Amino acid sequence: MVTIDWANLGFAYMKTRSHIRYTWKDGAWDKGELVTDDTITMSVAAGCLHYGQECFEGLKVFRQKDGRVVAFRPQANAERMQRTAVKTVMPPIPTEMFLDALKRVVKDNLDYVPPYGTGCAMYVRPLLIGTGPQIGVAPAHEYTFLMMVMPMGDYYKGGIRPVRAIVFDDYDRAAPLGMGDVKVGGNYAASLYAHEKAHSMGYPVELYLDAKTHTNVEEFATSNFLGFKPDGTFVTVKSPSVLPSVTNLSLQQLAADLGHRVEVRTVPYEELKEFAEIGACGTAVVVTPVCEIHRNGEVIEIGSKDTCGPNLLRLHDAVQDIQFGRAPDTHGWCYPIA
Ligand SMILES: *Cc1c(COP(=O)(O)O)cnc(C)c1O
Repeated sequence: MVTIDWANLGFAYMKTRSHIRYTWKDGAWDKGELVTDDTITMSVAAGCLHYGQECFEGLKVFRQKDGRVVAFRPQANAERMQRTAVKTVMPPIPTEMFLDALKRVVKDNLDYVPPYGTGCAMYVRPLLIGTGPQIGVAPAHEYTFLMMVMPMGDYYKGGIRPVRAIVFDDYDRAAPLGMGDVKVGGNYAASLYAHEKAHSMGYPVELYLDAKTHTNVEEFATSNFLGFKPDGTFVTVKSPSVLPSVTNLSLQQLAADLGHRVEVRTVPYEELKEFAEIGACGTAVVVTPVCEIHRNGEVIEIGSKDTCGPNLLRLHDAVQDIQFGRAPDTHGWCYPIA
């Protein structure tokens, strides 16, 4: 039995019983195995170390009200990782293999899936890296796919607090054209400097504009942009440089279910002052309300500084109710594991 202080759990690495690891060699993936050692040995010339041949995913597993353990839309993460693998020239993970890895690793770590009622969930981090030696710039010849799991806390145990965001006109989101829709560590590495700068200035999130004209909204550093207009229209960004967020797709569907008009389109920065609510969405936090956006000394204020707006709150609750099994899973998003 593991003892974990669920009430004080954050979002941080925790060593659990095992991760699952597969190797790709001579054109095929092996059967994978559960590994208890959380370190990895590879060539000093591994492609992931020198040329950043790496990609990852993030999804969650929930213990539901009736005790069942389910993953939220893992097929969507499998498919996104396949698209990313193609663009980073790595062997894609077939959906069947991805789901099999998920079931095996979660079942081996069931006691790390937080109890229902704590608001906590298990975070699953799939990782695909070039581990074969590669010194000329080219794809590696050997790859490792692994999936690690760790319990994570309820971001909102103290209530949902709106945050301030900043726009830098001297840093773009480090996702080159054509690579903005892939979930790769390289984009994060190249954004880390601006991210740390924003944090040190007191902004938990940065909002990025399109690199070419700096007039249209793209997304926050680690999460998609969405918002509500005063008439209740749900608006989110359409751009080839935005990472297609599974949370965003789910919230779009739930907004439509709740009777909102849903618009996926270009969003000019100038339009932001007309929004009634703005949020940042992603797997880890579901949705974070944004109450101020700072850019070159000018501030756009959106909604309350103390509480989450009503429409974002309703969407947050709607998705969490499905994830925790309190509402019918009308879209078939919960994938049974145990
Ligand atoms: C992972 C990620 C998101 C959120 O996607 P989800 O599938 O909702 O977790 C948004 N933007 C970027 C850049 C990301 O890497």
